[in-house]
Amino acid sequence: MTATIIDGKSIAATIEDEVTAQVAAIVDAGRRAPSLHVVLCGDDPASAAYVRSKGKACARVGITSQTHALPATTTTAELLELLGRLNQDDTVDAVLVQLPLPGQIDQDAVLLAVAVAKDVDGLNPTNYGMLAQGRDVVASCTPRGCMELLARHHVPVSGARAVVLGRSVLVGRPLAVLLTNANATVTVAHSKTRDLAALCREADILISAMGRPGLIGADFVKPGACVIDVGTTRVDDRLRGDVDFDAVLPIAGWLTPVPRGVGPMTIVMLLRNTLMLARAAGVVTTAAVPTS
Ligand code: NAP
Repeated sequence: MTATIIDGKSIAATIEDEVTAQVAAIVDAGRRAPSLHVVLCGDDPASAAYVRSKGKACARVGITSQTHALPATTTTAELLELLGRLNQDDTVDAVLVQLPLPGQIDQDAVLLAVAVAKDVDGLNPTNYGMLAQGRDVVASCTPRGCMELLARHHVPVSGARAVVLGRSVLVGRPLAVLLTNANATVTVAHSKTRDLAALCREADILISAMGRPGLIGADFVKPGACVIDVGTTRVDDRLRGDVDFDAVLPIAGWLTPVPRGVGPMTIVMLLRNTLMLARAAGVVTTAAVPTS
């Protein structure tokens, strides 16, 4: 058996076209375009690059975006003050705080301060809690992207045994909730899990979000399983996933590559989440609406 390669780049392009058409329909109806505001704190080059690519993606689909770049010395109070203003601003539909934040900032306080209705990454504890209750709310973009890859390839999720490697707030935990909500039977593994390979071999769906390049070898994979590789680690100037792609390809039923797998889905899910929040807010009318 050779796995079907899940081409995240081409699936993301399809979804981007869908979002573009939906944004155009909103604007054609005389309403303003959805808007995303990104808060970037500090000078981490990787974060700055992610934020730039998010801005470019917004421009491609017609979403208005603005980046608020704050210095690395920003205090929690200063960041909260900015979020307060964005929360009050009716022209702002979605707010994303780029993580990680500089160490002096209270991340919990910041995530709590993003208005529930504008929380595009679903990290406000209220949205997180509602997701855990099984409600259809905005959810973190990377986990949403993984679910979309499964759906677009018709990978059976209901009743499947799923193993998620990693329990981070941003990826592993919300992913486990989304899989549970989709009726998978889910196990979350982490650095203290014993006999990882044996656990992974039980999985019909194996999703790795550890940041441990090449750790998932052939002995971790049940024949025919769907293997989604979220991990991205720069090694010798190349991006590497958690999965040993060549070793797993002959065993798995589906497999995502790195790059061109989950990465492009994360950005397109941000666009879709922005659209979802704008719609929920009614995409407010503005002076752009014809008066006669
Ligand atoms: P993180 O916060 O560092 O979490 C990593 C998780 O993996 C932790 O729960 C950790 O366990 C677990 N882990 C680490 N080594 C392990 C091992 N040997 N065995 C079992 N579990 C292990 O990272 P993250 O933010 O979730 O990101 C995970 C990876 O996904 C990174 O490579 C990141 O770059 C990538 N990522 C990619 C995208 C994308 O768009 N493609 C988006 C987000 C993240 P403990 O909790 O016990 O420490």
